[in-house]
Amino acid sequence: MNPVLEKAVKTHHLSKDDLILLLSDKTHQTDLFKAADTIRHQFVGDAVHLRGLIEFSNICKNNCLYCGIRRDNQLPKRYRLAPKEIISLAEKAVQQGFKTIVLQSGEDLFFTTHKICSILREIKKMDVAITLSIGEKTADEYKAYKEAGADRFLLRIETTDKNLYHYLDPGMSWETRKQCLLDLKNAGYELGSGIMVGLPNQTIDSIADDLLFLKEIGIDMAGIGPFIPAQGTPLENEVGKDLYLALRTMALMRLLMPKINIPATTAMEALHPMGRLMALKAGANVVMPNITTEEYARLYQLYPGKESVDQSDIAQKILSIGRSIGLGYGTSKQFKKI
Ligand code: SAM
Repeated sequence: MNPVLEKAVKTHHLSKDDLILLLSDKTHQTDLFKAADTIRHQFVGDAVHLRGLIEFSNICKNNCLYCGIRRDNQLPKRYRLAPKEIISLAEKAVQQGFKTIVLQSGEDLFFTTHKICSILREIKKMDVAITLSIGEKTADEYKAYKEAGADRFLLRIETTDKNLYHYLDPGMSWETRKQCLLDLKNAGYELGSGIMVGLPNQTIDSIADDLLFLKEIGIDMAGIGPFIPAQGTPLENEVGKDLYLALRTMALMRLLMPKINIPATTAMEALHPMGRLMALKAGANVVMPNITTEEYARLYQLYPGKESVDQSDIAQKILSIGRSIGLGYGTSKQFKKI
């Protein structure tokens, strides 16, 4: 085995130069994927945790250059589910056996803290873990959601290259995003963050920084996906779609943080029919099937190729690679309650 890879497997520490080397090495990526798969097996086991994803609004006040549901994109028809529709979707998911519900949306101002909290309280009665992914809020709002029943929160840092972030996310501030992550941690959430890989002007050097940042901040889950140019956005003609670079980044995340939860991201499946399975064999241990009804899932087009509703064959696919379906809440083994 390559000595740098061997060091990663043994120590779970890599320098920035080591990371750059392994991120750039296409020739030996199969060894990297195998090493990440072995570490995943040793530290978090063979169970794949399923999360029922509800995309409840594609209305967003932000204008991120990469995002298909950015404010100024005229292409997607906008929708928002009524609170009672969200609760009833969660109910169905629980009946199907999901032990975690993920509520994701654009930053839609209709959903006040009061509204989100009442939705959370209703879903919490169903004895499930709840993950929120609704963007940047104040520390008090994060606390209120936590008290109302949210357990986990996903907020990607997207990139640690501040110049790139400020170019991609006009009107937003990288420091604020980082502060949100710290506020979420202080509020006692199981914290998820992550990045997009293959963004225009993103360097391997900065992806190495991203990995070190995620380790330093002490995340419990990491969502790492390839950037896919979306129609109607200023980046629609960019290249992106680097599935293998995204897989190498994800595999290195597993080596650096062996106990965290890592989803096989939807963006990987959008680029390759076996994308999720490839991710599960390269360090991932979570899958988030979309349980939003097809009519709305179609409109939550962050990027092309994002599947609409996908619940049918996922369990079978997981079993076909010798893995099992997680039966519990699938709390991150990295997570320490405060
Ligand atoms: N509004 C919330 C937030 O900002 O965290 C959650 C929704 S946001 C659309 C979810 C994630 O989708 C983003 O964090 C981003 O990484 C990813 N995403 C958006 N556009 C994408 C694209 N074109 N390709 C790949 N991933 C994309």
